[in-house]
Amino acid sequence: TTILSPDQKPKILLMGLRRSGKSSIQKVVFHKMTPNETLFLESTNKIESENISNSSFVQFKILDFPGQIDFFEPSFDSEKIFGGQGALVFVIDAQDDYMEALQRLHQTVLRAHKVNPHLRFEVFIHKVDGLSDDTKIETQRDIHQRANDDLIDAGMEQIHLSFYLTSIYDHSIFEAFSKVVQKLIPQLPTLENLLNIFISNSGIEKAFLFDVLSKIYIATDSSPVDMQSYELCCEMIDVVIDISDIYGKDEGVQVQFDKESSSIIKLNNQTILYLREVSRYLALVCILREDNFDRQGLIDYNFLCFRNAIQEVTPSASITSTPPSTTTHF
Ligand code: GDP
Repeated sequence: TTILSPDQKPKILLMGLRRSGKSSIQKVVFHKMTPNETLFLESTNKIESENISNSSFVQFKILDFPGQIDFFEPSFDSEKIFGGQGALVFVIDAQDDYMEALQRLHQTVLRAHKVNPHLRFEVFIHKVDGLSDDTKIETQRDIHQRANDDLIDAGMEQIHLSFYLTSIYDHSIFEAFSKVVQKLIPQLPTLENLLNIFISNSGIEKAFLFDVLSKIYIATDSSPVDMQSYELCCEMIDVVIDISDIYGKDEGVQVQFDKESSSIIKLNNQTILYLREVSRYLALVCILREDNFDRQGLIDYNFLCFRNAIQEVTPSASITSTPPSTTTHF
């Protein structure tokens, strides 16, 4: 069995103080809300659990906690909440005084670690769109230092925290979520290997395997990721979705892809964006030089080999299960 099978869903717990931006993150990443619309979101005041596995390759739960929840209250079932495979994402509002948030982070991490030593801790230093570049770095350094000092003081320096600078106003939130989700995918090394083989045999510069719904990339080849390439590929997905209107807007968030469909965009700088559907959730988006696209037959062929290999390493449930009846077909 694997973590991607439906009976063993890894969980992502989204936590943080009130107004830190949890609901906004969830809406922007998984519900296509625009950042400006989040201004009108009501603050979270209960534990919300959302299972997005029906519409996304990545099967996990988001538990949106109100900031004020009391862990030590008997009704708080920490075994149930922190148990299982997953990651705890703690959101800190970087535009606000973050001392209280740090204290909260510390308590949460200690508590959660005690219940589940395998849980991963991911700290989103959020709303950094309002900060200058220097302040961003300084804030990250300060938060990192204080959070780790607190752990050392508590004799828990073995707990590892990862930090990300995020904002819903750019792609940083998608990038951060990609990294968090990738750590929960046991086949990641295999997927990366397959991508490496595919790109080197096809003259491709960069390839991302995307969860189409969320635009999280669940794997990429081992060359470094630059933000611009990632954004380009995200935008390509949006364009393809808009053009083919695959997106069943009136019927929830189901995405349907035809297995044969593909899309090619030529940019005016001799670059090509090449998109192929891998499954109804996954798309491969590649960046390559126009010269190398002369051999499109080879690339298409290599893609089919790649897709077959992917289907072998990921459970059939996630790749080929029959779409729910609400799905729109075009
Ligand atoms: P929650 O209580 O943690 O769920 O917080 P909300 O999602 O309701 O967000 C509180 C406020 O923060 C809202 O007005 C959002 O528009 C705003 N917000 C969320 N994310 C960002 C961000 O990345 N940058 C900025 N500038 N504001 C944000």
